[in-house]
Amino acid sequence: MQKPPLIEVAGLRKFFPIKKGLLRRTVGNVRAVDGVSFSIAAGETLGLVGESGCGKSTVGRAVLRLIEPSAGSIKINGKEIVSANKQEMRGLRRQMQIVFQDPFSSLNPRIKAGEIVGEPLKVHGVGNKQERDARVAQLFQRVGLRPAQMNNYPHQFSGGQRQRVSIARALALDPHFIVADEPVSALDVSIQAQVINLLMDLQRELGLSYLFISHNLAVVEHISHRVAVMYLGRIVEYADKAALFAKPLHPYTEALLAAVPLPDPALKRTRLRVEGDVPSPIDPPPGCHFHPRCPYAEARCKIEAPALRDVGVGRQVACHLR
Ligand code: SF4
Repeated sequence: MQKPPLIEVAGLRKFFPIKKGLLRRTVGNVRAVDGVSFSIAAGETLGLVGESGCGKSTVGRAVLRLIEPSAGSIKINGKEIVSANKQEMRGLRRQMQIVFQDPFSSLNPRIKAGEIVGEPLKVHGVGNKQERDARVAQLFQRVGLRPAQMNNYPHQFSGGQRQRVSIARALALDPHFIVADEPVSALDVSIQAQVINLLMDLQRELGLSYLFISHNLAVVEHISHRVAVMYLGRIVEYADKAALFAKPLHPYTEALLAAVPLPDPALKRTRLRVEGDVPSPIDPPPGCHFHPRCPYAEARCKIEAPALRDVGVGRQVACHLR
C-alpha cells in the first residue's frame, strides 16, 4: 500500500473581511488564498513561488494554523489540523515549525540566542534546564554555530548566523515539517547558498519535509523536488521541478522564468515577459485572473476561469490554451 503524504492540503481558503462604517459591516473580502490544494511527502520539498501579494505567505501561515483558514482541510500524517482543539494543536505544533524571512525581526533582541532556541523546549516541558542547555548546544553545532554563541544577543550575529539561530529554534522539538517563508530573501547572495545548503543537509539527515516559499524561481529550483506556482490566491501550475524548468506550461510560469538571470550575460532569453503588477485580491479580474497581463489571452479568458487540470504524470496547469 502506498504511504499517504505527510502533508495534505485540500481546498484551502483564507479570506480577510473588509469592514467599513460605524457598525463595521463586512463589505467585501480580500481573497488571499482561494482554493489551494497540494501534498508533500516525507523528506520532500515543495517550492511555492509567485510574486509578492499572490498569497503564498498566507498559505504558509494557514497551513500551520498561525492564522485560521476560512475553509479547507489540512492534514499532517493523516490527522486533521483545521478541526483540532487546543490540546490536540499543542501536540501537532511539535511536528510543524516555521522559519521566517527576516531573522532580525523574528528574534527578540533582548533575549540571548541560547534562550531563543531553547524556548520551545521550555514551553513544551521538555527535560530539565541542564538537558535543555545540552540540546541547545547540540542544535547550535548542527546549524554551524559555536555553543559559546548561545550567550550572544541577536544583534551580535550576522544575517546568515541569525537565520541559523532561527533554523536551530525550528528544529528544537524534532519537527517533521517546516514552512520556510522566504528564508534567504533578506540575505546577501553569497550567504543565501550556505543557508539553502544547510536546509538541504538537514533534510537528508532528518527526513524533513519543507514548504519552501519564495518569489525567486532560481532559489526554488535549487532546493525543491516539486514546484507550485501561485497567482492571485490560486495555484496555476504544479509540476516536478525538472519538467517545470524544462518546459513551463502556464504563461505566468513562463514569465517568472524569463525574469531569472542567466549565468552567462551573453545568453539571451527568448521567453515571455509580462508587464504590470499583480491585481488586487479584493477585486480580482473575472475569468482567468492572469488575463489582463497575459499576451496569449483570448475572449473566453476574460469570462471563464480555467480549472487546474491534469496534463501528465503529476503535472497540472490552469490555462485554456495549454
Ligand atoms: Fe492566458 Fe487565457 Fe491561459 Fe489565462 S487562460 S493564462 S489568459 S491564455
